[in-house]
Amino acid sequence: MKILIDNGHGKETPGKCSPDGRLKEYAYTREIADRVVAGLQDKGVDTMRIVPEEEDVSLSERVKRVNTFGKEAILISIHCNAMGNGSEWMSAHGWSVFVGNNASMNSKWLAWQLAQAALNKKVKVRRSSPQNLYWTANLYICQKTNCPAVLVENFFQDNKDDVEFLLSEEGKQCITDILLEGITNYLKEYLRNM
Ligand SMILES: [Zn+2]
Repeated sequence: MKILIDNGHGKETPGKCSPDGRLKEYAYTREIADRVVAGLQDKGVDTMRIVPEEEDVSLSERVKRVNTFGKEAILISIHCNAMGNGSEWMSAHGWSVFVGNNASMNSKWLAWQLAQAALNKKVKVRRSSPQNLYWTANLYICQKTNCPAVLVENFFQDNKDDVEFLLSEEGKQCITDILLEGITNYLKEYLRNM
């Protein structure tokens, strides 16, 4: 089982930053991805980033890289959410996780474990309904990949309070820990059911 971490957009992707320019999504998600990879490798879990480059790598190329591992992998794509176009502060806030429209049971189970980990850390989890801890959306990277796949929106880069939290050491550790706990609990269940 290979854990694949996608850190989303590249350096030159336009508009992917906070209104004050302090948080750049491509840089932030790479920092979190490195922390997650290090944390999982410490536990002996086989983990890698699928986009080591700083530049934007197309979705089709990212899917191709993921699919070289077949079904014996899981993909977690790390992002920060935005409500507006990045030019002004908005009000939406919180953490959320998505699966694709054609998501497998395992994708949903992975999303559920991640959301449960977020709830354990007492962060605001945005829900699609009171009972449902994850969202379903038309997401190329989740739908075209053959392994279980989720996309995580780690708070809003155009919400002032969320950005303060994201940029703090506490916030970075919290997001890293949510991802580590969710992935680890998914793997435990997966191995138990094998
Ligand atoms: Zn994004």
